Amino acid sequence: MGPAMTDCLFCRIVSREVPSTPVAESDAAYAFRDIAPAAPIHVLVVPKVHVTSAHHLEHADAELMGELVLLAQEVARLEGIDGPDRGYRLVMNVGPDAQMSVPHLHLHVLGGHLMGWPPG
Ligand code: AMP
Repeated sequence: MGPAMTDCLFCRIVSREVPSTPVAESDAAYAFRDIAPAAPIHVLVVPKVHVTSAHHLEHADAELMGELVLLAQEVARLEGIDGPDRGYRLVMNVGPDAQMSVPHLHLHVLGGHLMGWPPG
């Protein structure tokens, strides 16, 4: 984990240098709408500090990872997809085979319709 990086898109979104549509925020994380939604509800939850990917997390980041999931829960509540008959998918892509396109750790919160499984 490290300080904000000026050439990182999501660091620039966290600092509000690049505009985004906010959904929720905590001390540690920021949630905003994905610019190219892959589901009726598609929100990204990112740490405010720079972490390149899930594969770059260290033991010291364990609490940060929990904070991301807790903010994802809040997103689900705010978006109304947290009830027992609804649900959502949390996805973290890592590296080229998973088609990770922005190298700043992010949790995709996907929902609002019935999703297929397994993913392709
Ligand atoms: P990934 O492919 O897992 O790295 O996910 C990156 C996500 O960031 C994609 O779903 C993109 O649509 C999304 N994205 C890229 N640029 C922006 C942006 N400026 N604002 C919001 N979402 C973005």
